[in-house]
Amino acid sequence: MPPVLADIAAELDAIRAQSLWKTERPILTPQEPHIRVAGGREVLNFCANNYLGLADHPALITAAKEALDSHGLGMASVRFICGTSDLHLALERRIADYLHMEDSILFAACFDANGGVFEPLFGEQDAIVSDALNHASIIDGIRLSKARRYRFANGDMDDLEKQLKEARGTGARRVVIVSDGVFSMDGYFAKLADIRRLADAHEALILVDDCHATGFIGDKGRGTPARAGIAVDILTGTLGKALGGSAGGYIAAARPIVDLMRQRARPYLFSNALPPPIVAAAIKAIDLAEEGDDLRARLADNAKRFRSGMAKAGFTLLAGEHPIIPVMLGEAKLAQDMASRLYEQGIYVTGFFFPVVPKGQARIRTQMSAAHTASDIDAAIVAFTTVGRGLGIV
Ligand SMILES: *Cc1c(COP(=O)(O)O)cnc(C)c1O
Repeated sequence: MPPVLADIAAELDAIRAQSLWKTERPILTPQEPHIRVAGGREVLNFCANNYLGLADHPALITAAKEALDSHGLGMASVRFICGTSDLHLALERRIADYLHMEDSILFAACFDANGGVFEPLFGEQDAIVSDALNHASIIDGIRLSKARRYRFANGDMDDLEKQLKEARGTGARRVVIVSDGVFSMDGYFAKLADIRRLADAHEALILVDDCHATGFIGDKGRGTPARAGIAVDILTGTLGKALGGSAGGYIAAARPIVDLMRQRARPYLFSNALPPPIVAAAIKAIDLAEEGDDLRARLADNAKRFRSGMAKAGFTLLAGEHPIIPVMLGEAKLAQDMASRLYEQGIYVTGFFFPVVPKGQARIRTQMSAAHTASDIDAAIVAFTTVGRGLGIV
């Protein structure tokens, strides 16, 4: 083996030896609560971001098929050359209207939206003040800008204020506070009302990544700013979670910010346009989300039912209201053993461990969907209890 490959093999062995190895399981059916995986086993899925259950919704499939016929498979171009269809413009308008923002711009993924948003807006004279637990794509996006970087401890408003004062003290031109709307490993909400107050006091902009909120949190599913009753300056989000679960990301903001993105954001300028079937399905997904009070009520009921059943069974959960419900286990190996035993019981969940969460805080992150029935939730609680007893956890 060439030395470079031997080095890489040793690195891979080290990942395995620490029980940090991630594997992938092929799914043979559409993404739904009841799925069939390679090997033929039927399992109940509790780890998809399919919060509203739209990933296999007939109206989205129909919209995608119709667009496939009317607009074809793909654009074979970036947006500004010949990759913009009427559907792209309609979706950008729809996202902006839905989120009560002036305009929006599409990206291939929210990873790209976050990767592209900082560099054009924030240069050497500017400061970015970022929550320590922000998503990897935000961290990477900030790295690509030349702005001065400040980090505040997760959800710590005293630390945020301290960092803001420091940033302002250096005479920064623009200052922006950056936070996930929901921290996906914990299901915790950002303290947006406090962040708004601090932003106003220190003349800072606010950027919120609402991937784990848009569609199902706040009035009409408008996300964490709606839940907190505040406005933010820049929202980023995904079409790959509650809004249909396919692909695509966006930035929603005041028109000059969106216009600058169209001119300067590199993942927008140098990457293919979203395929028309995906764009058409996303428009339909937003319609269903906006009208989806019943879906949101079912999702909230499911989260409540799972939280109370699991707490009664003796599990340690992170408190909250979000449909992300982490079951805390401690060591990586225990989280992995528990997940694989649950799988044997027909419950598909995933263990999360270092480096995704801090060492010693390994967990199984469960995610509820509006598409789960009450008996699906109860089946999961029974399986968790059986496996938890077997492992001496409860
Ligand atoms: C999922 C997620 C992303 C990435 O979204 P994609 O559209 O899948 O690239 C970005 N930020 C947060 C907070 C996320 O949860």
